[in-house]
Amino acid sequence: MKKILKWSLVILFVVLLIDLGIIGIKIFSHDYDVIPESYIGYVCFLMLAVCGILMLFSTRCPYCGKVQITKGKYCPYCGNEKNSGNSKVEK
Ligand SMILES: [Zn+2]
Repeated sequence: MKKILKWSLVILFVVLLIDLGIIGIKIFSHDYDVIPESYIGYVCFLMLAVCGILMLFSTRCPYCGKVQITKGKYCPYCGNEKNSGNSKVEK
């Protein structure tokens, strides 16, 4: 799961950079019709923010180190109880 998040972050970042580059080139050539590009940039930026927040808030198993989005009490990978090591899990 972490790999997917990481790769989507990288891809979104690259798309955002390319998009900003296109906007820059268009403005340099005095073509101010950059509304679709700015929408793409906006969406990419939002998705980047969401991915970043997901990465920050996903809990990591203290035993095997795998990241879980789910809020179960036990790690689905190694079966250990999660909240004995990581104090971030409540209830
Ligand atoms: Zn685990």
